[in-house]
Amino acid sequence: MLQRTEGIVLRTNPYGEADLIVTYLTKDYGIVKTFAKSPRKIKSRFGSSLEPLTYSKISFWGKEDSALPRLTQADIIYPFHVLRSSLKSFLKVSEMIEITLSFVPERDPSPKAYSLLINMLRAFEEDSSDRMLVIYYKLKLLDVTGFLPKITGCGRCGNAGHDFYLSHGTVLCEKCSKGFETSFRISAGLVNFYKNLLEWNISHIKRIKPSDALVLELSMLIDEHIRYVTEKSLKTRAFRV
Ligand SMILES: [Zn+2]
Repeated sequence: MLQRTEGIVLRTNPYGEADLIVTYLTKDYGIVKTFAKSPRKIKSRFGSSLEPLTYSKISFWGKEDSALPRLTQADIIYPFHVLRSSLKSFLKVSEMIEITLSFVPERDPSPKAYSLLINMLRAFEEDSSDRMLVIYYKLKLLDVTGFLPKITGCGRCGNAGHDFYLSHGTVLCEKCSKGFETSFRISAGLVNFYKNLLEWNISHIKRIKPSDALVLELSMLIDEHIRYVTEKSLKTRAFRV
């Protein structure tokens, strides 16, 4: 069956002498890994369309549940080449790509994650020096994929609480947290900032100038949470094998 959609190249891996496995975040199917025949040959019809971050219209062919359908067409909509040309911006984008690969499921439509990534790449292309963009992306991606840490009140009973527990992905109140080890305390300032960030859009994010302390506190929370969740899922996957 031929499937058509649009997508952004997240990663490519060489396969054999001349072939490539191209991993996309697609508009209609979430993450899709495709097999591209001979794109590394000079006269390949794929041209530069398989470069990381390239946004294209694509077609791929295979059974509906095929793990590795064959990429038959990739027509560039927008190359995002500016993001690849500077090492500094590419490193930041690579961090965004890594967590996208960790949190967005394969073959499960995730249109919110898809539009989030496109909007973020556009914003990033305009100004890659804004330190809030990557943090905002991580936060929103956790939100749309269902992994957002809860910091407004106890995640079990809803009562007030200020201590975050990585093991639970939430703040817990004194009563519900008996016997667990606190990960860190959440400041009142962070709770407000966090609520606002989830409401604001990217153009608003580009106008704000939060304090260093707040940005640091938020980054630590988000990064520790991401590390905890990905390590846990890696262990689960290893266990299943
Ligand atoms: Zn509680």
